[in-house]
Amino acid sequence: MTADPPGAASCPVCRARFRGAARCTRCGADLTALMLFLAHAYRLRQEARELLRHGDCLKALACVEHAQRLHATPQGNLLRWICATASKQSAAP
Ligand SMILES: [Zn+2]
Repeated sequence: MTADPPGAASCPVCRARFRGAARCTRCGADLTALMLFLAHAYRLRQEARELLRHGDCLKALACVEHAQRLHATPQGNLLRWICATASKQSAAP
């Protein structure tokens, strides 16, 4: 048995790895809400990258923190660190 990669989503009922289907392949639970959370977190990370590119570091940080609360990923964690660092640098005199 191999461990899921960090940040991998899983069924909230049986912890089976999420495979992108609306129903859990192991227990049959409805995963529609999980899919919506993952999609929303993805869009928030995309928005954070776009805001960062335009220099709006504080809004980018808020977006990525929201995304991480919905679905924490290692990439999101790195993006949060970048946004936080950029925010501190842009706030420095
Ligand atoms: Zn399940």
